Formats: sequence, C-alpha cells, structure tokens
Amino acid sequence: MSSGSTANEISELLGSLREHARFAEDPVGESSAAVSVVTRAPNYEATADANLKTISPPDEFPTMKTRTGPNESAPQDTLFGDLKPPEPFLIQSSETLEDVWRDIGDCTRCGLCEGRTQVVNTHGNPKARLMFVGEAPGADEDTQGKPFVGRAGQLLTKIIEAIGMKREEVLIGNVNRCRPPGNRQPTLEEAAICRPFLFREIAAVQPDVIVVLGNTALRNLLEIREGITRVRGQFQNFRGIKVMPTFHPAYLLRDPSKKKETWEDLKKVRDYLDGLQSQSRTRPDNI
Ligand code: URA
Repeated sequence: MSSGSTANEISELLGSLREHARFAEDPVGESSAAVSVVTRAPNYEATADANLKTISPPDEFPTMKTRTGPNESAPQDTLFGDLKPPEPFLIQSSETLEDVWRDIGDCTRCGLCEGRTQVVNTHGNPKARLMFVGEAPGADEDTQGKPFVGRAGQLLTKIIEAIGMKREEVLIGNVNRCRPPGNRQPTLEEAAICRPFLFREIAAVQPDVIVVLGNTALRNLLEIREGITRVRGQFQNFRGIKVMPTFHPAYLLRDPSKKKETWEDLKKVRDYLDGLQSQSRTRPDNI
C-alpha cells in the first residue's frame, strides 16, 4: 500500500470522526440552521447573529453528562461497523426560563411577528418533570398569551389529568411562539429561528420526559424523518432526555378514535416517571 493511499485513509477516518463529533454537539443541525438564516435572509442578520452568540452549541452547552441509556435515535455508523454512535448528553444551563424570555422579548426575528397579537412563551412549572411540546399558538393562545388554552388545550389538560398529574405541575410549550396566519404549519425557516429558545428552556428546566405532540414538534426536536404515526409510543432521546412522540390533541379532536393510542403512549410516560420516583425513594440519603 502506498503512503498516498494510507494518507487518504487517515484523512477519511478523521473526516468521519469529525462527523461524529458534530452530531454529538449539534444533533438537530441547529448551528447550520442559524447560519443558513444569516445567509438567506439578510433582514434577520443582526438577531440571528445574536442567537448564534447566545445559543450555538457547544459553547452554550459545555458540560455533557450521560443520563440515560443508548441514544435510540442516533444513526448507526456504517463505515466503522462496530464503532458506537456518540453517547447522548444532557444539556446543562445556568439560565432560567425568565432569562430566555427576556432574550425573546417582543420578538421580530421572523415574519410571524407581523400577524400575531403577542408572543406565547412556554408556560408552567419551572421544576417540571414532564414537558409537552406542540406546534404553534392558535387563535385562543394568541389572544390569551398562553399555550394550549383553546379546545386542543382543554383536551391536553384531560390527558395530563388522566395520568394523575395536574396541569400546573407540567411545562407546556410550542416550537413556534407566534400564531401563523390561518393556523398554517410554521415553515422550516420559522421553526429553525424559534426552536433554539425552546432548547434553552429545556436546558434550563431539564424535565425527565418531553412529550412531543404531532409531527412539527417531533421533527424539530429529533433527527427523525418518519411521521408521528410510525414513531408514536416509542421512547426517543433528545440530548439525554426521554422523548415520547404522540398525536397532537387537535388531531384527536378530528379523529377521536386515536385517543386510545395516545392513552397507551401516556401510560408509558406515567410508568417511566413512576419508576424514576420509586428509584429516588429507595436511594439512600448519603448518595
Ligand atoms: N396547538 C398547538 O400546537 N399549540 C398551541 O398552543 C395550541 C394549539
């Protein structure tokens, strides 16, 4: 074998390892999304640049600790066969929810600000063990300034109560914080601009489980291209936090026959949280 081909192999190896490292630091491509905003939409430049300074991993999430089992959603490395995917990491943050909301302010980072009444931030218990993430505010949320207060929100409250919890105990948020015109789905660009704030809130609160409601939440939190119907009910992993995908309550209002599946998914969440609680009850005081 020539020294040229050895050098090529080493260079390919380094390239692949760099890919792994990039995935570990930025599993949802956040930094590249922010960069593409800067290049494609010059009017966002100043604020997107501010975002980059404040949220770009890995600087914002410097301490990485493994909390759960293997990363169920990480892609397998095909080139190296038995080389394990990067360990999941738990995001760490010294921010509070208020810090994040202060930064969001009266946001004009994307065009959705033009049609909204107000920014609808994540709402609920800052020490929540359970978080729900939806898509974007609707008309009622836009008027009241709180997520999930309309018909879908009332159904969400029933779902929360069905697993023995109160709405005040959990945290509820959306990928986008401004109501899209006509309740359309947020565009990829709108979602990419807004979701770093959600990630910072997740880092601040560190819930034990996040329930993603519907496709928009699923695809913005996880490296998953499959739809909610395929992955619902199977725990996923977002930076060391368990994620349960399930149907959006607005979909359940349209097709109540799907409530059965949602109930199955939420029972898994309840059992997982109960398991964690009993573990911590039995853990000796001195550990
Ligand atoms: N649908 C959502 O996704 N979020 C809300 O806050 C309300 C309805």
